[in-house]
Amino acid sequence: MEQTLSIIKPDAVSKGVIGKIIDRFEENGLRVAAMKKIKLSSEDAGAFYAVHKERPFFGELVEFMTSGPVVVMVLEGENAVVKNRELMGATNPKEAAKGTIRADFATSIDANAVHGSDSLENAKIEINFFFSGQNIH
Ligand code: GDP
Repeated sequence: MEQTLSIIKPDAVSKGVIGKIIDRFEENGLRVAAMKKIKLSSEDAGAFYAVHKERPFFGELVEFMTSGPVVVMVLEGENAVVKNRELMGATNPKEAAKGTIRADFATSIDANAVHGSDSLENAKIEINFFFSGQNIH
């Protein structure tokens, strides 16, 4: 059993597809172990995406992630990290495989519907960023 962090980004929240996205996880063996709807501050978003600080798109990324509320979740299941990445599809929705969340719900490389941890090590860091152990069930 693994845990991974998923974020439903502001574009998908404002489109009203939270339920449809969670359905993809639940239908594919990923259980919601923790969940909350929050609005990130610029400090939160900047700290969360600190690895991308030097990238040219960092400012746009922080601006987008703070443009509206997000839904943050801990997903649990077998191979949860890789399974979540498969369900999400490629970062750029134009390159995302048919039937993936990004192919179906994302509009652009920044408004790309979901975030998912890219390794088990990062999943642990990202889960700790948003949740304390007693709120993960
Ligand atoms: P992910 O793990 O698939 O989300 O992709 P990355 O970790 O490489 O990038 C993090 C996030 O930064 C992506 O989900 C996008 O929202 C954003 N991003 C990545 N590349 C670009 C880019 O070239 N332009 C813009 N505007 N945003 C980008």
